[in-house]
Amino acid sequence: AIDFKSILENKSALAENLKNRNSNANLELVIELYENLLQLQKEVEDLRYERNIVANKMKGKVEPTERQRLIEEGKNLKEKLLILEEDLVKLTDALQKEAQCIPNMTHPDVPIGGEDSSIIRKTVGTPREFTFPIKDHVQLGKELDLFDFDAAAEVSGSKFYYLKNEAVLLEMGLINWTLSEVMKKGFVPLTTPEIARSLVVEKCGFQPRGDNTQVYSIEGSDQCLIGTAEIPVGGIHMDSILADSALPLKYVAFSHCFRTEAGAAGAATRGLYRVHQFSKVEMFILCRPEESNTYHQELIEIEEDLFSKLGLHFKTLDMATGDLGAPAYRKYDIEAWMPGLGRYGEISSASNCTDYQSRRLGIRFRPESGMNPGNAKKGKGRNLTPPEFVHTLNATACAVPRMIVCLLENYQQDDGTVVVPEPLRPFMGGIEVISHK
Ligand code: AMP
Repeated sequence: AIDFKSILENKSALAENLKNRNSNANLELVIELYENLLQLQKEVEDLRYERNIVANKMKGKVEPTERQRLIEEGKNLKEKLLILEEDLVKLTDALQKEAQCIPNMTHPDVPIGGEDSSIIRKTVGTPREFTFPIKDHVQLGKELDLFDFDAAAEVSGSKFYYLKNEAVLLEMGLINWTLSEVMKKGFVPLTTPEIARSLVVEKCGFQPRGDNTQVYSIEGSDQCLIGTAEIPVGGIHMDSILADSALPLKYVAFSHCFRTEAGAAGAATRGLYRVHQFSKVEMFILCRPEESNTYHQELIEIEEDLFSKLGLHFKTLDMATGDLGAPAYRKYDIEAWMPGLGRYGEISSASNCTDYQSRRLGIRFRPESGMNPGNAKKGKGRNLTPPEFVHTLNATACAVPRMIVCLLENYQQDDGTVVVPEPLRPFMGGIEVISHK
């Protein structure tokens, strides 16, 4: 349910938004198609009305010649209607397709510009000073026998990996520790299907098809591999009206993520940094519209708390308009210091998607305010307040491979071993140091 009326009413704000977000959505075409659709809908309604009049006339007493004429007229109208109804379906599809490309509106405080215009909101810690020559995670992993990229390349292709030995425990430890931390904040844990219908993928704001798609489609089906748990979690409440009292709904979901990484040529690709398959713990909130900015802050604070507990040095960024995904109204990224790579690297991302996904997925709630309190108490009567779309938010709690990059590189010692951060030790069978076999 894209709000075309509001698109028409806010045309200039929308055009400005498209420009700021570097979007190639075709607003003029959307408006033209929408106006054509309204016109066509009217024509269809008029024809249906005429057809009903003819049908009603036939029910009464009519002369044979007049009846013949009415039959002819009815047949004509039916044929015309069939053609127009077909056009209506085609036009609706074309409009939906164009309109899907229009990104969400943008929070007024979001900096305008490209990647370099993003603003640092917070910095935690300082880069560790090393007194010995440092190694990157690929070298550390090789010496400590933690990965096998070569076999993975043979078996699956480039940008795949096997984790081995303590790296496996590190992955499991990170997942379990993160889940337990986020569950303490009242989030409901989930594991999810890792294949989703293309339609759901699209409704969450991802493009399942096209030249530069990040999404793996399954040949011969209408299904895709998920790029993030945001998709199956977003889909859980698809086409439903939630009770006001059920909100906010907070989920923390574990899934594998699959990405084609099309268009990532030239970007940092060494080792585990950018891979086709990875494990991720993702937070997802559905809430009342007026609360989404507050929950966005909560999500970024949870992320900051998790990464602080792991002893990382990082900065939190308010991402500029040019760097927001289509569904995001505002996005905070966290970039952590990766000594071996010699730079900061993105480890998480928290987006407030307002009603962008919920409109497409059909997730609404019925505000309590309209309920007659007397009736509500007795469980009688109907709440007549119209349902509203919820707001959705998503945020990375732990994207495992980049976290492994960070931990290995930051916690390395001069003897080539790596210290395991304290919070993870109970989740890794008590291992304190990853050492040579
Ligand atoms: P996104 O859902 O794109 O915001 O990504 C969430 C997090 O997943 C990012 O902040 C990265 O830490 C991680 N990530 C994204 N893409 C990849 C990839 N191809 N390989 C490894 N980690 C990734």
